[in-house]
Amino acid sequence: MNSKHPSADAATCAAVFVDRDGTLHPDVAYRSSPEALALFPRVAESVARLNQAGLKVVLVTNQSGIARGYFSLKDLEAVHAALTSDLARAGAWLDDVLFCPHHPDDGCRCRKPRPGMIEQAAARHAIDAAGSYVVGDQLCDIELARGVGAKGILVTTGPRADDAPAGRHATRDMADFVAPCFFDAVSWILRDRARSLRPGPPREKAPSAGC
Ligand SMILES: [Mg+2]
Ligand SMILES: [Zn+2]
Repeated sequence: MNSKHPSADAATCAAVFVDRDGTLHPDVAYRSSPEALALFPRVAESVARLNQAGLKVVLVTNQSGIARGYFSLKDLEAVHAALTSDLARAGAWLDDVLFCPHHPDDGCRCRKPRPGMIEQAAARHAIDAAGSYVVGDQLCDIELARGVGAKGILVTTGPRADDAPAGRHATRDMADFVAPCFFDAVSWILRDRARSLRPGPPREKAPSAGC
């Protein structure tokens, strides 16, 4: 179709889907209160760089602690409110916050590596998942990226960095890039975007316009 209004066509924004625990701050098992939340160095600044680049930033986190009864939805919201205000102090924001509250045995569609959260965000924000990125510290994050055709960036700041070498190497091999921290993951994404947007064959529309 030769539309004169490409922005009316779906899926034109690129996004960075960001894991929470072990990626933005240390992974404390079943974190239920915001008190101990301390972002890794330069995380807020990094999110701001993505914001400035016109990329959507969407948190996607598995929080089975809710289904397990370890903490409540209200507790989770308090953690996310604290995270949001930490980011805001650096002029950074999350365009959306999505979480899976289910137990692994529930067979839901939203628990990573299943694609439900990305599908939901893509529908809500007209995101082109295949032109997007997933950053996380675990195999499920990289599998999520693979499943939706996005690029997967593994950060080695999570507690699984000392997993059995075989599993660790498999995850690294599957990732498009392995970064020592979130800041470096974002630098790679911004370079990758610049490469893909470099003038070449004419494009119908700059991907960030109208997002
Ligand atoms: Mg994680
Ligand atoms: Zn779920």
